[in-house]
Amino acid sequence: MSSLFLPIAKRFIAGERAEEALQQCKSLNAKGFKVLVNYLGEDTSSGAEVDANVQEYLRLYDLLEQDRVAGSASVKLTQLGLGISFSEALNNLERLAAKAESLNRYLWLDMEGTRFTEDTIGAYLAVLERHKGVGVALQAYLKRTAADLGVVLGKGGQVRVCKGAYDEPASVAFKGRKTTVESYKVLLKRLFEQESHFAVATHDAELIEFAAELASDTKKQNFEFQMLKGVGEDMARDLVTNGYAVSIYVPYGARWAGYAMRRIRERRRNVLLLLRALVGA
Ligand SMILES: Cc1cc2nc3c(=O)[nH]c(=O)nc-3n(C[C@H](O)[C@H](O)[C@H](O)COP(=O)(O)OP(=O)(O)OC[C@H]3O[C@@H](n4cnc5c(N)ncnc54)[C@H](O)[C@@H]3O)c2cc1C
Repeated sequence: MSSLFLPIAKRFIAGERAEEALQQCKSLNAKGFKVLVNYLGEDTSSGAEVDANVQEYLRLYDLLEQDRVAGSASVKLTQLGLGISFSEALNNLERLAAKAESLNRYLWLDMEGTRFTEDTIGAYLAVLERHKGVGVALQAYLKRTAADLGVVLGKGGQVRVCKGAYDEPASVAFKGRKTTVESYKVLLKRLFEQESHFAVATHDAELIEFAAELASDTKKQNFEFQMLKGVGEDMARDLVTNGYAVSIYVPYGARWAGYAMRRIRERRRNVLLLLRALVGA
């Protein structure tokens, strides 16, 4: 199964090893993009796996530095030990934030499903008290996010706004593109009113245009666009050509299946390609 799935997944992931990711990062840097590297894996309660994840991120920062790659890492709290305890995950996040800071680099914290929202924001705010170069993803499809954004900005935090990638119930999430886009626009207006750095993570042309208009109206440059490897590449190129800062999210690692499946499920065309590969085998 995985040998059939891997060729399609490869559009979205760099490979299984950090060195493969670094290769792609250098080529993206050469095209004017910065990078956000993610070591794939989530939701583990194995202490050995958590330790290995932390070691891999520490090594990744050394590799970014050694290869003079322009960019940073993006991490999930559940890969740092949230399944063991909040304090385990917090300590590990703190170690990575300290490492990033020692190299004058940034650390992003991804946002996962709603089981983890509260802990992710809690851990983020705790680490932010000691390290300024950290940012957290917030999901426009969640009804709570406008309030969360106020809290994070109130503490001087930095935000990546994205639509949200998990299947959440209607009790907590806007369902459907229209309401999610409306929510995203409200968040963007709020972000363009303030001074902290922030990221607009989307491939939705309407939202990109909306952000570009806000940037022009407010004359703000304290933001960057962020896109996923393998998605919206033409748009990303156009943005760089037009002088915008753009970072590409580059995931790698042996545990690529869950991430790749999320990306494939997002588009009907991707699902059809996967089915065709499986049926044709
Ligand atoms: C840098 C970055 C970081 C992210 N971090 C998080 C996070 O921490 N937590 C989280 O929940 N989500 C995260 N996401 C994912 C995000 O929430 C969405 O699931 C994803 O970006 C698709 O939404 P969209 O805004 O691009 O809009 P969509 O309406 O889904 O897509 C807009 C257009 O982009 C193209 N496109 C989008 N997705 C695909 C795809 N998979 N394959 C092919 N074409 C596609 C299509 O042309 C589509 O019409 C992140 C996204 C980015 C770009």
